[in-house]
Amino acid sequence: MALIVQKYGGTSVGTVERIEAVAERVQAAHDAGDQLVVVVSAMSGETNRLIELAHAVAPQPDPREYDVLVATGEQVTIALLAMALNRRGCPARSYTGHQVHILTDGAHTKARILDIDEARVRADLDAGRVVVVAGFQGVDEHGNITTLGRGGSDTTAVALAAALKADECQIFTDVDGVYTTDPRVEPHARRLDRITFEEMLEMASLGSKVLQIRAVEFAGKYNVPLRVLSSFEDGPGTLISYEEGDMEKPVISGIAFNRDEAQLSIRGVPDKPGVAFHILGPVGAANIEIDMIIQNIGADGTTDFTFTVHRNDFDKARAILEKTAAELGAREVTGDDKIVKLSLVGVGMRSHAGIASKMFETLANEGINIRMISTSEIKISVVVDEKYLELGVRSLHAAFGLEQEEAG
Ligand code: ADP
Ligand code: ASP
Ligand code: MG
Repeated sequence: MALIVQKYGGTSVGTVERIEAVAERVQAAHDAGDQLVVVVSAMSGETNRLIELAHAVAPQPDPREYDVLVATGEQVTIALLAMALNRRGCPARSYTGHQVHILTDGAHTKARILDIDEARVRADLDAGRVVVVAGFQGVDEHGNITTLGRGGSDTTAVALAAALKADECQIFTDVDGVYTTDPRVEPHARRLDRITFEEMLEMASLGSKVLQIRAVEFAGKYNVPLRVLSSFEDGPGTLISYEEGDMEKPVISGIAFNRDEAQLSIRGVPDKPGVAFHILGPVGAANIEIDMIIQNIGADGTTDFTFTVHRNDFDKARAILEKTAAELGAREVTGDDKIVKLSLVGVGMRSHAGIASKMFETLANEGINIRMISTSEIKISVVVDEKYLELGVRSLHAAFGLEQEEAG
């Protein structure tokens, strides 16, 4: 008998019919003798709807009340799934994050899980019941409802799997595994049988939204076997583990992209000690995360400084930068929020030279201008104009031989 945590995302519980299909899948596993904890997201579109409602009432909603509102989507689906299971004769009980005491810090809208009281879950499992838990939500030490950031149900599932020492955490979604790149952008993308935690973490951090970054971090830290599967069809999915898999592994495992970034530059700033701090200090103090940074080689005593931030923070960061520019006597501030970041990821890159030049050559052949470049041990990222996203992803995917092999 295995203890399995399953998580079903928004599309997988998007209609009553889909909830019935999930109930059928859960019941089958339960009938086969497994103990099951099932985490569900809100029905697809529901969290967006709630966020729009919040912004219709207040441009910058109070974070505590925002969490009270957006956490409601998941309460609907846990109850519906538990009802569907009970009706089928599969005993089930639903719980909100508060009820199973998913304790988080108090960082509303992006809270971190600190602890889970698994006793209640275990009691139900021991009584033969399926336990259905609301994803994405928790409670802080003062009893306030918190949420874990977009895509946070993945993290709820992994945290429960870690707390219960589950045999596997299965993330059911609308694709049948982790692909070499988002199959919505490159239809020739190939499903990976396995991928390492390290690579999955890079892919998630660089924009692949198939798993929330924190879920991968958590699974890696507590060594939770994690699998991504389709809720629409049966299949092996993709296993995320520490092993690197077969020896024939390609140098590049995948291509990630991020449409959520924007670029800002401050030009003609004095080239002297302390300038980077003077520019980025106030941005950081405003709680704006900075991603890529470039400082040009100085000429004539001045230099240019460019960095990227989340698109939602673009206007705020630009206003801060205008102020800094005036203080420093900089020449100008420019910005562009129509950019994307494309990244190649692969542990094999460590031992292979020439990946970067092949990437740049491929983009050059397509006439795609590179605005910024950054590299680390297992990834290379470039910033390009947003209009080149599809072309860039597809040409790199082909150049690095990642396509699906033709059948026959
Ligand atoms: P859920 O609602 O089930 O949590 P998400 O929309 O969060 O589903 O994640 C699944 C989506 O992730 C897929 O529909 C796909 O478009 C996208 N995706 C992005 N990158 C990848 C990738 N490398 N492999 C698979 N899916 C990816
Ligand atoms: N419902 C939340 C969201 O849309 C959490 C999740 O689906 O994982 O972000
Ligand atoms: Mg998701």
